[in-house]
Amino acid sequence: MTKRGMLIVLSGPSGVGKGTVRKAIFDQNNNDFQYSISMTTRQPRPGEVDGVDYFFVSKEEFEERIQTGGMLEYAKYVDNYYGTPLKYVNETLDSGKDVFLEIEVNGAMQVRAKSPDGVFVFLTPPDLMELKQRLIHRGTDAMDVINKRVATAVGEIKMMQNYDYAVVNDEVNNAVEKIKTIIRSERLRVTRV
Ligand code: 5GP
Repeated sequence: MTKRGMLIVLSGPSGVGKGTVRKAIFDQNNNDFQYSISMTTRQPRPGEVDGVDYFFVSKEEFEERIQTGGMLEYAKYVDNYYGTPLKYVNETLDSGKDVFLEIEVNGAMQVRAKSPDGVFVFLTPPDLMELKQRLIHRGTDAMDVINKRVATAVGEIKMMQNYDYAVVNDEVNNAVEKIKTIIRSERLRVTRV
């Protein structure tokens, strides 16, 4: 029987750079784990591609998925739904491959409750003000949205204690290397080999 793959969850406050770190990991093209593309009801940002960055769906379609048990986890975040389609994750893990999720903290805790043997990594900003500056410089959100995101982040940072690992995102390549080290180490756990 094939050994089931490992679930790796990268989470942390919005604006900390989870997306950038995740893209840097997958741009390297030499990973032996698979990215689970999330589903969302938010509008695509310029340059985002359906089926690559997200599966962009309507609120009705997302709610239908929830009703029919099609989501591993989901959360409402700044007025939109975000979630992980269950089927891809299960099929990939069953085939023996490891799966990587990049999700916000409420979703990560739902996954933790369902899959306690997953590996949970919390990405932290060097400090909150820097987080705010990054969100402003990204230039994609209005000021009121930024303020909501920062307020959300204060609570999220307190949640770090619910994770297995904390990685400070001081520099993208450093964070990427640390996350890859975590994954390599986790694979060597006696309980996994
Ligand atoms: P953004 O709108 O900036 O792409 O994402 C907003 C937040 O939603 C980020 O913190 C991102 O990590 C999170 N997110 C993306 N996909 C998912 C998902 O499938 N589930 C959950 N719970 N959060 C997600």
